[in-house]
Amino acid sequence: MKLLIVDDSSTMRRIIKNTLQRLGYDDILEAEHGLQAWELLDTIDDIKILITDWNMPEMNGLDLVKKVRGDARFADIPIIMVTTEGGKAEVITALKSGVNNYIVKPFTPQVLKEKLEAVLGVNEV
Ligand SMILES: [Mg+2]
Repeated sequence: MKLLIVDDSSTMRRIIKNTLQRLGYDDILEAEHGLQAWELLDTIDDIKILITDWNMPEMNGLDLVKKVRGDARFADIPIIMVTTEGGKAEVITALKSGVNNYIVKPFTPQVLKEKLEAVLGVNEV
């Protein structure tokens, strides 16, 4: 399953990527900002999950989410936002824009695992 990680921090991308790899996900794409992420989404067919930062140059995560949700091709792609923006208003804004789950930095590998499983429906009964 192909996952796309979007963050302007290469360190944060590495942390998320390492965590995902330990969970068994090995088909991982990376982008430095929303614009680059959009180019990948637009050209690569089978990206199944989008994990994105909020604060980034070129195109931020919130604008990326809005663009993705505005395109019928990506209506069903789960989006997890991973950000330092931990305020209630920010979380609500992100969820209203189409984010499925939200992680505030810093986070533990366990949190990423749980949120990922939640958006994938792994824990559904
Ligand atoms: Mg950032």
